[in-house]
Amino acid sequence: SIVVTGATGHLGRHVVEQLLEKVPADRITAVVRDESKAADFAARGVRLAVADYNRPETFDGVFAAGDRVLLISGNEFDKGRVAQHKVVIDAAKAAGVALLAYTSAPGGMTAALVDDHRGTEEILLASGLPYTLLRNGWYHENYTENLAPVLEHGAVVQAAGEGRISSASRADYAAAAVAVLTGEGHENTTYELGGDEAWGFAEYAAELSRQTGKEIVYNSVPVDAYTKILTGAGLPEPLAAILAGVDVSIAKGELVVSTGDLSRLAGRPTTPLADAIAAAVKG
Ligand code: NDP
Repeated sequence: SIVVTGATGHLGRHVVEQLLEKVPADRITAVVRDESKAADFAARGVRLAVADYNRPETFDGVFAAGDRVLLISGNEFDKGRVAQHKVVIDAAKAAGVALLAYTSAPGGMTAALVDDHRGTEEILLASGLPYTLLRNGWYHENYTENLAPVLEHGAVVQAAGEGRISSASRADYAAAAVAVLTGEGHENTTYELGGDEAWGFAEYAAELSRQTGKEIVYNSVPVDAYTKILTGAGLPEPLAAILAGVDVSIAKGELVVSTGDLSRLAGRPTTPLADAIAAAVKG
């Protein structure tokens, strides 16, 4: 089987949808925390396994020898994601899976956000399992799904200076994962994945202006000011610090990915940022 964790998340849903176009539904297992969120998958013949990264025993029997597994990184920053991911890796190892692919972060990124990914990569490599590191760059949707405050203030406020980002859509990263899960020769390989074109926030603001007909500027603020803006908007302090750290990484150019791995694996060019903006503006 092809087994996908985090299957009811945004990325996981894209992966399952794209797998369904390539393999019979009964060869796909969606690992979910909440079965009710996966009723649509079950209705289409996808197998479900209910398991939680926080409860190792729930992974008993989820994997079988020869499975290909996609471990989608969790989003519970305060629960020790490395230990959570280790639960999945240990269960996969015990079962003797044929491949474990992990959604990681760009290799050149130094922000604190990536510590969990580097920690997970180390455990995966030490496990001796055949692995694929899908070092995903940024999603377009990180920005385009949060347009309301930008449109309200007529400003994209970030602390990234002139830094550029090779973002791509979640669907693009899902296509790369599906290529690895259904193809051959990806064992013990690290892919640095990013969009074909890098952009800066000034260009992003200009494209937003063009598509909305409203004047939208890019306002690059110091990191401290940005952190305060985020906490002022209600984000918990640790999360605000993590996000501000990402902007420092962007300013340093650490989110520029120029390997071409993503479009090569997907077998097509990556989705332009302008398309993601258009989809968001249309609502
Ligand atoms: P989502 O937040 O939509 O999905 C996270 C998935 O992880 C969900 O399916 C969630 O389950 C599952 N999950 C979280 N905690 C547990 C747990 N304890 N046990 C089992 N499953 C769990 O994120 P995306 O799909 O958009 O992105 C996937 C991952 O990529 C994120 O979790 C994060 O690690 C990373 N990421 C990458 C970004 C990038 O730009 N490259 C941006 C943001 C995140 P459930 O469906 O039940 O909630």
